[in-house]
Amino acid sequence: MVSEFDLIRRYFVHPTPATRLGVGDDCALLACESGQELAVSTDLLVAGRHFLATTDATRLGYKAAAVNLSDMAAMGAQPRWVTLGLSLPQVDEPWLQAFSQGFHDCLQAHDTDWVGGDTTAGPLTIAVTILGQVPVGQALRRSLACAGDDIWVSGTLGDAALGLRYLQSTPDSNPPPTAADRAFCIQRLEQPTPRVALGLALRGWAHAAIDVSDGLLADLGHVLQASGVGARVFLERLPRSPALQRHLAQNPQDVGLLLRGGDDYELCFTATAQVAPQIQALGQRLDLALTRIGEVTCQNTRQLLDAQGHPVDTSWQGYDHFG
Ligand code: ADP
Ligand code: MG
Repeated sequence: MVSEFDLIRRYFVHPTPATRLGVGDDCALLACESGQELAVSTDLLVAGRHFLATTDATRLGYKAAAVNLSDMAAMGAQPRWVTLGLSLPQVDEPWLQAFSQGFHDCLQAHDTDWVGGDTTAGPLTIAVTILGQVPVGQALRRSLACAGDDIWVSGTLGDAALGLRYLQSTPDSNPPPTAADRAFCIQRLEQPTPRVALGLALRGWAHAAIDVSDGLLADLGHVLQASGVGARVFLERLPRSPALQRHLAQNPQDVGLLLRGGDDYELCFTATAQVAPQIQALGQRLDLALTRIGEVTCQNTRQLLDAQGHPVDTSWQGYDHFG
């Protein structure tokens, strides 16, 4: 019978080069640099609710790390450390091996040390706490959008939601996607790329930022609410991947994927119109599409406009776990 301590030693001890003391003691010891604020965020992933229990363990581990890194990105923080709380129905060593591999790989790609956690028997649940640093006063808060700002979004929208649909295999897309488009969308769902470099580069340029986890309108809505402003968003400008374009060409009724599709983990941010050229240049330097999708307005109204400039009647509500 493998003990809890064997499991910890086998699967949770990794090199932690940027940490005074990692896994193994009662606490980890972290050295925070002076002049920096500590940014902290926790995410809870419950099987059957946030992910399918059948998800490949390596990809699941990767995603658990990626969604937390994405919160750091959305704050303009440099991710440094994570802890992992894991509740497991039974000890399944191949699963643990694969999960911790995916988790560690994603963290390592972003210079983030896995410094501790807790492991217990129970329903499959993954709780990650991430800590990072941001120079005092420079965090990209949701509340800092200003009337007149441009609204930007990175990458493309709706791919992950389409990927989820493909996995759930509702045969409603006609004709069915090519194998490559299907794989692309599922990859976007299961292995999102946290926009950490973008978040860091936006310090000093962007006002407010958020990562798109619940859908563009819902997440932008949080920024507008926190900042006490409104917005005008242009539907035609919302960035779409070739796979999504092909899907929408056949299924125009699915335009909601762009507006409400969650799980893309792109950044939505605002910045004054004067710095638009610098932001374009930043996108080129990072090799990441940055698209101006609208503008922040002073009235507390939210408008989505179609190609003819007509308002589209739509809800800005996102998914609510208790709704
Ligand atoms: P304690 O009894 O003090 O809570 P544990 O026996 O739970 O200590 O954990 C021993 C060490 O193993 C601690 O350093 C803890 O951070 C680490 N650890 C336990 N579970 C995990 C995990 N899932 N990921 C990383 N480290 C873990
Ligand atoms: Mg413990």
